[in-house]
Amino acid sequence: MFHSSYIEISRSALAHNITFLKAQLSPGTRFSSVIKGNAYGHGIEEFGQLAYTCGVDHFSVFSADEADRLHRVLPQDATIMIMGYIDDAELTWAIANDIEFYVFSLDRLEAAAKAAKSLRKPARIHLDLETGMNRIGLGTNELPHAADIIIKEPQAFEVVGISTHFAGAESSENEDRVTGQLNRFHLAVRSLRHKGLSIQSLHTACSAAMMAYPETHLDMVRVGIMQYGFWSSPEIYQRYMGISTDRTDPLRRLINWKSHVMSLKSVPVGEFIGYGQSFQASSDMLIAAIPVGYAWGFSRSLSNQGQVLIRSYRAPVVGIVNMNVLMVDVTGIPNVALKDEVVLLGKQGNEHITVASFAELSTQLNYELLTRLPLNIPRIVID
Ligand SMILES: *Cc1c(COP(=O)(O)O)cnc(C)c1O
Repeated sequence: MFHSSYIEISRSALAHNITFLKAQLSPGTRFSSVIKGNAYGHGIEEFGQLAYTCGVDHFSVFSADEADRLHRVLPQDATIMIMGYIDDAELTWAIANDIEFYVFSLDRLEAAAKAAKSLRKPARIHLDLETGMNRIGLGTNELPHAADIIIKEPQAFEVVGISTHFAGAESSENEDRVTGQLNRFHLAVRSLRHKGLSIQSLHTACSAAMMAYPETHLDMVRVGIMQYGFWSSPEIYQRYMGISTDRTDPLRRLINWKSHVMSLKSVPVGEFIGYGQSFQASSDMLIAAIPVGYAWGFSRSLSNQGQVLIRSYRAPVVGIVNMNVLMVDVTGIPNVALKDEVVLLGKQGNEHITVASFAELSTQLNYELLTRLPLNIPRIVID
């Protein structure tokens, strides 16, 4: 209520995807649901609760604020792991609330020791290793020192995991880099164990690595994009379809983004539509206004290019996408009426607006388009 558009999230599609993804895992490998970026736009609270009901009990987030949002809505037995930045105050909060977190530098390790000691409770940490992405992570030269800090403070730490992240597992172009990273990872783990560290689990794989490199599964995989029904890259999709006996895409999209017709207007031939002169009616036209614009994540680059669905027909965007309104041509669509449902993304009848087509037109990646869906569009769970 009181929103000009809303995003539906499908429970049955998620249950279907999770079943497919878990079937890809090596025996004994745990499944962690990656829900950073507001659950790739699906809404952390709504998606997290839904995934839990679909049997997911491990969640990976980027930041403490995402962890907090999830922690408020999930039962106690779900594990939450922060893979990204965490400041000093947040460390204390995380330890007190049994939130696990990555340690990617010696300074974070020392700060975690301090926080754990003052709480008299061990920090549940994952040592994130630099293996070749050159982004974040403890370098090989820092590992002996890190191990010393941990061994010196046995009350302060529980080393729940050792992790790394691959620099481009979605493209076989990067195969040498990925396998080099995995080798360096195993060498580093061996050196940490040799130092006397007790380590509970190893995890490295994102969606693409899970599909393309089964040897990266280890104790846990961290799956983001594929849960939401999208492939990491066309290559990962084609590779799977090449080895699968089934010819249909095993993933289903969860998202439908919907609005409705706000106003209808007949425009005589020759008139310009919207701001400026980018669209001129080439015949008498019927134009529908939709109360969604770039302030709501409908990119301005879809001006005169995008499409929406109304009454199971495609209606092209005409003119410039405004901040809060866009216009579409509904001239050929029978019986269009005020308040008709409009699908901006997703399915209506037999028609589909895919994120890929949407993203291609606006030159965004799946990941980017999804995470840019604004926080304040309501997410509604449907079956
Ligand atoms: C985002 C992320 C993932 C998940 O990546 P997908 O390609 O969405 O599966 C896994 N691990 C880390 C560290 C990440 O940042």
